[in-house]
Amino acid sequence: MDDEETRALELPPTIRRRDFVNGVLVAASGALLGAPGCLLAAPDGVSKMLPADSTTNYPPLLTGLRGSQPGSEGVPHALRDGAAWPNPLKVDEVYDLVVVGAGISGLAAAHYYRRVIKHNARILLLENSDDFGGHARRNEFWIDGRLHLINGGSQDLENPRPFGPRLLSLLKELGIPVEQLPSRADADRVYEDMGLHEGIYLDHKTFETEALIIDRKDWSWTRKLAAVSLPDAVKKDIVELEEGIDNPWPGLTDAVKKERLSRMSYRDFLLSVRQVDARTPAFYDAQTKDLWATGIDAVSALDAWGVGMPGFQGLRLTPRATPRMGNTPSGYAECGGSADTGGQRKVHLPDGNASVARALLRTLIPAAVPGGTYNDLINVPVRYAGLDQAKAAVRLRLSSTVVKVVNGAGQRGSVEVTYVQGHDAFSVAARHCVMACYNAIIPYLCPSLPSAQIQALHRSTRAPLVYASVALRSWVPFVRSGVFRVYAPGAAFPFLWLNEPTSSGGYKTPEAPEQPVLLHMTAMPCAPGRSEMDQHRAGRAELLATSFGTFEARIVEQLAAIFGAFGFDADRDIMAVTVNRWPHGYAHEHNSLFDADLPEHQRPHVIGRQRHGNIVIANSDAGAAAYVESAVEQAYRAVGELKDL
Ligand SMILES: Cc1cc2nc3c(=O)[nH]c(=O)nc-3n(C[C@H](O)[C@H](O)[C@H](O)COP(=O)(O)OP(=O)(O)OC[C@H]3O[C@@H](n4cnc5c(N)ncnc54)[C@H](O)[C@@H]3O)c2cc1C
Repeated sequence: MDDEETRALELPPTIRRRDFVNGVLVAASGALLGAPGCLLAAPDGVSKMLPADSTTNYPPLLTGLRGSQPGSEGVPHALRDGAAWPNPLKVDEVYDLVVVGAGISGLAAAHYYRRVIKHNARILLLENSDDFGGHARRNEFWIDGRLHLINGGSQDLENPRPFGPRLLSLLKELGIPVEQLPSRADADRVYEDMGLHEGIYLDHKTFETEALIIDRKDWSWTRKLAAVSLPDAVKKDIVELEEGIDNPWPGLTDAVKKERLSRMSYRDFLLSVRQVDARTPAFYDAQTKDLWATGIDAVSALDAWGVGMPGFQGLRLTPRATPRMGNTPSGYAECGGSADTGGQRKVHLPDGNASVARALLRTLIPAAVPGGTYNDLINVPVRYAGLDQAKAAVRLRLSSTVVKVVNGAGQRGSVEVTYVQGHDAFSVAARHCVMACYNAIIPYLCPSLPSAQIQALHRSTRAPLVYASVALRSWVPFVRSGVFRVYAPGAAFPFLWLNEPTSSGGYKTPEAPEQPVLLHMTAMPCAPGRSEMDQHRAGRAELLATSFGTFEARIVEQLAAIFGAFGFDADRDIMAVTVNRWPHGYAHEHNSLFDADLPEHQRPHVIGRQRHGNIVIANSDAGAAAYVESAVEQAYRAVGELKDL
């Protein structure tokens, strides 16, 4: 806990209202100690299933800094900086398989191992964090006796291309009825039917004017911008980029146009090809952050075209990808989708993809995930105490950071795995090991890998992101403002939206504006002007150095700036904040501006994922695609490499 958090908990005299959610006040004052059930009382008796000390021992309920929670980076960073744990205590446990990392890929690897290699295999999953699921994590808030759910990381079941048969059959096997669930577009219609729209917020520091533009689909851009005090040149640029059909490159073939676009950033395209005013790119700068976690200077114009950004209409490009495009934009381009849908209908479960992780866990450790239906997955708490039971065939050990994986080192099995818990190191033996952690850490765990593979793994710098979940007492100010989702290109959190309406698995988001609701806010720290990977490295350093108090202050300031005029009062309306930090977030996808133009088999993710003795490499980095499907496909491939070994 940092100093600012400590100070917040040491308050009264003015206890902020958010302290009443999830029993945080109980921990702060001790006034109701021993009776957390009062605060967690749920109409269906769910609270009885939560551990008695739920406010500290049930990770989804924890507020403050979550995701990669504070302290979780300690051992990995010490390892990077040369620390060693030479004499681990040998634990008297021998497994068929040890999995490093319990994200979607690690959980799927364990699942497939029992399907493909040995149905009754003994498996240990070691997870650095204090929760399972990796990015597929959920945040829970109990407000007035009602459970509110939101994704703390991975949000939608989605893909720029239609799902392949493997993921579809896995989801079916897991009991997730993906084809019957409403799509994200259906969800948006709930707010649209209430007369709400998307909005664009311009902050004074970036735009020298402040405005909330209602981005109505049925209005022209001239009409949307009519009352906004942007310079005329900027307004003209926006209208032309959004609606114009001028062809800046008449006479060039489709292939030549695409080739040129692949070698310039979207920012350069705006400035040098579309010749916009120098102030115009700021309006678009954050549009690429959602998918790349960098601004428009580190994304090629071709990829920007692929995901549907404006300014290309006049070029009349054929909707086909080129090999120089990244995985996501090429999928959108090939599948003829828009940035909203891509080739696969986006489906949102009430806790995002956390339920996929829960469902995988249910097949592995049924005693920890009670029930057997989709409804149970969503609503019934996981029994964390049941994750690591001595008699169970599959065990999941949280807060256990793997620091070394060695082939053939011991008598007990083919692989020796060392992990650190607290200050102590332990080692276990196994026949096989799947590395389902992120690629960039693998060279430190496994320094005996060939040097070309180590270099390739180091090329997998993941993108840092922050997903904040804010519990609001009501969303009347949103209704008054006319927006449910805001793009704020100059703000600390460039994207925010009211929790996606969902009605599935016996869970329904509130529909009355007077009721509490959850708000999602996204930030992507980066450093404009550098290469994509250097931006991610700088962003990660910034993210890890930012305290909860600073994030919270930015959230309060931004919401007050946008919604203050519509009656928003942070002290009254913000009930709780969970800031999910993802310093190692999206897997890296090919970027034609910075990555060498290589055939697939020579690309870093392919070289990096080669089998090393009885150690194989899964995780979404190995597929160079930040999607559930990639995590699952790579798990399946990695496990397949263990056959006959
Ligand atoms: C904020 C965010 C939003 C996203 N949204 C979507 C989305 O909407 N749809 C989608 O399809 N994809 C989304 N993704 C992509 C997401 O990364 C993948 O879908 C998938 O969850 C990745 O799974 P993984 O197992 O490969 O990696 P991870 O989820 O990163 O899991 C790796 C695990 O390994 C653990 N680990 C690392 N090192 C060690 C070690 N030394 N010892 C032990 N454990 C270790 C980590 O703690 C982590 O739990 C999102 C990603 C982020 C960050």
